[in-house]
Amino acid sequence: MILYPNASTQLYGIIGHPVRHSLSPIMHNNAFKKRKINAIYLAFDVTNLEAAIAGIKALGIRGLSVTIPHKEAVMKYLDDIDDMAKRIGAVNTIINREGKLLGSNTDWLGAVRALEEVIALKGKKVLIIGAGGSARAICIGIRDKGANVHIANRTISKAKSLAYLCGASFSGIDELNNISNDFDILINTTPVGMSPNEDKIIIDPKVLSNFKVVMDIVYSPVETLLLKEAKKRGCKTVSGLKMLLYQAIAQFELWINQLAPIEEMERALLEAINS
Ligand code: NAP
Repeated sequence: MILYPNASTQLYGIIGHPVRHSLSPIMHNNAFKKRKINAIYLAFDVTNLEAAIAGIKALGIRGLSVTIPHKEAVMKYLDDIDDMAKRIGAVNTIINREGKLLGSNTDWLGAVRALEEVIALKGKKVLIIGAGGSARAICIGIRDKGANVHIANRTISKAKSLAYLCGASFSGIDELNNISNDFDILINTTPVGMSPNEDKIIIDPKVLSNFKVVMDIVYSPVETLLLKEAKKRGCKTVSGLKMLLYQAIAQFELWINQLAPIEEMERALLEAINS
């Protein structure tokens, strides 16, 4: 007998455009199943954001992930936004608390947790390449943990704005090879190296031996050329998959108020990526 979905099933989901590539439904539905929670998580390709947000309230959707291009635009439609999401200037999680929509951000948590598995951040010197939305969440998160940050970006004016916001130094990416000997941790937040451009790398591999830890937030492929080259040179490496997993775990815990089944969510994620 099918027990659920039934009339009591709670609805969660992700809004974005496009959204068909999202791995979030796989992670969250497996987590609900493992924890025997009568809930389902679906992907919604949304172009009319205002109408979609009205729909959450009208249909009683309990929680949503928010992805590109809506993370910033969604903020004006919410009833409240937590302090960290306000500082980051982006929401990737909506919690429906009895009809009031609260915006939160778990991207920074995902990155910080993935990094802290391999290195303590306090007092470390971190070089972030890129100055987009993910760089902003990561920079604020790791500055709060006591790291010193330098932002290097292709468009230098964006590096400057982010550096000003986070209390970091900045430069263009043309200077990367000269400055790299001054840091403990390297984080690539650009899409360089992402499938189908897996043969691309953002920095000269020769300088990677300067870093103790190299993280790439690109997760397709799981091991980018940057991570392969860093591993060859003895660095500890952190895959973007860990950030993706840990931001989803934080979302689950915000919505459901119980510990997420980490191993189950990671297993489902790896299976989906390798299928
Ligand atoms: P974004 O806001 O568009 O920012 C992209 C950044 O990359 C910008 O600083 C841009 O520089 C730079 N960039 C783009 N192409 C470049 C190139 N060819 N050479 C040098 N720099 C380049 O994007 P985002 O939302 O931060 O996402 C960036 C990447 O992170 C994507 O690949 C995304 O899939 C991945 N991501 C992973 C996770 C995870 O959980 N692992 C989460 C979010 C995002 P300019 O300022 O000069 O344009």
